[in-house]
Amino acid sequence: MSYARIQELRKWLNQWAREYYELDAPTVSDAQYDSYMQELIALENEFPEYITKDSPTQKVGGKVLESFTKVAHKQRMLSLANAFNLEELRQFDERVRKIVPKVEYVVELKMDGLAMSLHYNDGQLVQAVTRGDGEVGEDVTHNVMTIRSIPHTIPIRDEIEVRGEVIMPKASFEKLNEERAKNNEPLFANPRNAAAGSIRQLDSSVAAKRNLDAYWYFLMDAQKLGIHEHSEALDQLSEWGIKTNPNRKVCQNIDEVWQFIQTISEQRSELPYDIDGMVLKVNRLDDWNVIGNTVKAPKWAIAYKFPAEEVITRMNDIVLTVGRTGKITPNAVLEPVRVAGSVISAATLHNEDMIKAKDLRVGDYVVIHKAGDVIPEVVRSLPEKRDENSKEYVFPDTCPVCHSHLVRDADEAAHYCINQDCPARVVESIIHFASRNAMNIDTLGDKRVEFLHDAGWLNSIEDIYRLHEHREELLECEGYKEKSVDKLLAAIEASKQNPLEDLIFGLGIRQVGEKAAKILVKHFKNMETLRHAGVEELCRIKDIGLITAQSIVSFFQEEHNQHLVDALIEFGLNMESDEQEVVESRFSGKTVVLTGSLSLFTRDEAKALLERLGANVSGSVSKKTDLVIYGENAGSKLAKANELNVETMDESTFMSEVNALEK
Ligand code: NAD
Repeated sequence: MSYARIQELRKWLNQWAREYYELDAPTVSDAQYDSYMQELIALENEFPEYITKDSPTQKVGGKVLESFTKVAHKQRMLSLANAFNLEELRQFDERVRKIVPKVEYVVELKMDGLAMSLHYNDGQLVQAVTRGDGEVGEDVTHNVMTIRSIPHTIPIRDEIEVRGEVIMPKASFEKLNEERAKNNEPLFANPRNAAAGSIRQLDSSVAAKRNLDAYWYFLMDAQKLGIHEHSEALDQLSEWGIKTNPNRKVCQNIDEVWQFIQTISEQRSELPYDIDGMVLKVNRLDDWNVIGNTVKAPKWAIAYKFPAEEVITRMNDIVLTVGRTGKITPNAVLEPVRVAGSVISAATLHNEDMIKAKDLRVGDYVVIHKAGDVIPEVVRSLPEKRDENSKEYVFPDTCPVCHSHLVRDADEAAHYCINQDCPARVVESIIHFASRNAMNIDTLGDKRVEFLHDAGWLNSIEDIYRLHEHREELLECEGYKEKSVDKLLAAIEASKQNPLEDLIFGLGIRQVGEKAAKILVKHFKNMETLRHAGVEELCRIKDIGLITAQSIVSFFQEEHNQHLVDALIEFGLNMESDEQEVVESRFSGKTVVLTGSLSLFTRDEAKALLERLGANVSGSVSKKTDLVIYGENAGSKLAKANELNVETMDESTFMSEVNALEK
């Protein structure tokens, strides 16, 4: 039993760690992750024979992304052990005092961002590396250089390594998510994931726009500079112009520590950035060596984690919404309540199984929290406060909008409305078709689609291309001035020339996301061959699985969709791949890396050109790289290429090579 539970906990923790560290998209709250981790630690303490090297209790962080140059840390970048209450802090203090009886602690804010290591040499910032798996991190110098508060030069010549946290302030996070919502882009779950997602970008202009900030909390090998205490090291960093968090305190005992924690937790919501706890560190650096580390964390420090804010409110109703694929989502209608800084009145309940598992009933008092402090979640109901006449929730069997019968496949948790003409599906599918990552029809956003649908002019995707027939009527509607109507119609007309993959993604075929759409276009080259492809042929394509293949075939078999595609052909939409023929060249079959700032091409142009010349363009330099093409201010990638004896070429030589080919 215990072993089965250990395995189950490891399975979940590994999956969540992957989503959190590698994909920057957590699906559960930190509190849930932490409670599973605590349970696993307790079981492993009880049954140490089950501890394995790859258990989540023994590992730091996640895998490094292949697209970045890997850098080995000179000293491992560790995680921190956790304490969740005063009692656990006292236990930590006892453990420390057994080794060093006289001790004081530096108590700092636990910034919720991503850990970073900065390297200065001869006063210059030369490299920035993520924590990665603790041993090896990713070289993200190009992105970290864009953070304004980080000095590129410091007044000391020695080789210096500083460690700290890159964060996204709350205001930048809210602005970023607002923009993403406007553009129909997926939202970041919390500032931590937004910061991590911004730093792990190949193109530094993205990080530059995201208004990141950073605070530094370790000066490595400070003793070599004659520094004896951590608090002194932090002061030294500030003196060099390296930003440290002024909210810190040297405390003589745990009572004093606890008082400071209380003071900060009261101010927490007012701080301009997220913190998820406080960190206690033994102040004397000599003691660090004496106390030592575990495989995962130092034993001379501990993180006190704030409890996730939970509130109780009443669930007045459960209402269903219909997505573009017909997927039905149940939502809790809540008595409005304030949680972690904002008023919550609704939360998704995901599907029927979730409602059953939590035994949620209309009228129940429920506990709410915000996953990752952002997404509202119904944690559980309070059956003890339940009315004795309350009844189990019965999932409706008809669509709330068109009232047709709902279907639930045996292997899926979700219910679907399968009526193609369901008005809710129609509106959602048009919104998806026009959205930024699909056909990107500027100004045809959610509200407009709903309005035009209600007016009777948009009853299907193909109606978008008939909208010009209603120009005069549109001009009579409030808020539809000549300029904006013509802009909308021009954007619709222009979308006819969009790449075929945008159209295929826009059709909203189940299982076919942007990546699959690209793969399909690469393989079939045009709509005509794709729409007649069979399951077997589709399955032979790398990265297209059986379920996706079946979904594509059944999509094109439906009469409704056949009419749609015929109509779009009739309207003159681009149905061909615009991929250019690959030209045989000296770059064919080579793995090429671009670095530095190019002045003759944009990065995307250079990449497209190289791909047309048969090269495979990669983001990081390794032994497998054949050629590095560099522009001005090329940094670590060029250095690495030289180190590995990889061929290099400057931008103007590349230009001459290309010109020679075209002659
Ligand atoms: P951690 O965040 O608990 O603590 C270690 C990190 O704290 C350090 O690496 C450093 O980056 C940071 N830190 C911030 N301020 C600091 C300061 N003043 N001094 C020292 N360090 C400071 O550990 P972790 O290994 O990075 O992550 C584990 C935590 O991440 C979990 O406890 C959980 O909360 C969260 N997590 C969540 C999910 C999820 O799916 N929601 C998945 C994995 C991890």
